Formats: sequence, C-alpha cells, structure tokens
Amino acid sequence: MTSNNNQISGKDESGLEEVHYRLNGALQTGPKMQIIICKTLLRLPQSVQDFVYENCMFCEVGLDTGLCISKNWPGPHDWLIVLGSDADESVIAHEIAHSLKGHKRERIWSEPDSNEVFVQESEACEIVKQWGFTGPGTEAET
Ligand SMILES: [Zn+2]
Repeated sequence: MTSNNNQISGKDESGLEEVHYRLNGALQTGPKMQIIICKTLLRLPQSVQDFVYENCMFCEVGLDTGLCISKNWPGPHDWLIVLGSDADESVIAHEIAHSLKGHKRERIWSEPDSNEVFVQESEACEIVKQWGFTGPGTEAET
C-alpha cells in the first residue's frame, strides 16, 4: 500500500501524528510538505521542537527553486518560513536554524554581498549539520 504515503496515518510513523497535531494551524502547505516538515521536527532536539511550536509558521510557494526565507511575522507566530515545493528536510531545518538564531533575512535582501550574510549562512549550516542532517540545507550558498 503506497497510497497512504502522503497522509498522516499515524500507525507506523512514531510521533508523526503528535507533531502534526501540535503544528496544526501553523502548516499552511500542501499535505506532502506537511509530512516533510513533521519528519524534520522529529529529528530536532526537544527544545528546538518547542521553539518551533511556539514561534514558527510554515507556508509553501510553488517555485521549483530551493529558495526558502524566514521573516518576522506579526501575530502568534513570529517567524514565517516560506518553503519552495522542492524543499527537503535539510532545507526546512536550515530555515528553522535561522529563526532560532534570530537572523533577520530582510537585511540580507538589501545587502546581498555583506559579510553578515556569510556569517548567518555558515552558522545556520553548522547547526543543521550538528542536528545530523545532510543535503542542500547544510551547504552555505550566498
Ligand atoms: Zn540560509
């Protein structure tokens, strides 16, 4: 049975259902991306998971790029994490790392070549590696 792959069935996916429940309302993405986000959360330290439940909201844009941004957002969640449709777990973890460290991406747009960009990207990639991820979210690209 592969038809259930894109749904939270909860039976053999330990913890996935609970994470999905706790993120409910903060997941403004398609069902596939919701599962990838939940799986990412399960790989994070508990304190980081709690930070995400408290502060992060996720949405998905239909771009085929790996572009993800996080931004201050007024309301119950301070951070809006915008994910391209091809974002994988390492990319999601990367954006969570930015929000955790309070990196302000707005400044990056205005100063694309600044040293601060490099420092923030390296820091985010380092954190993602420490969490045990591999993939594009661990590679600094400025
Ligand atoms: Zn980054």
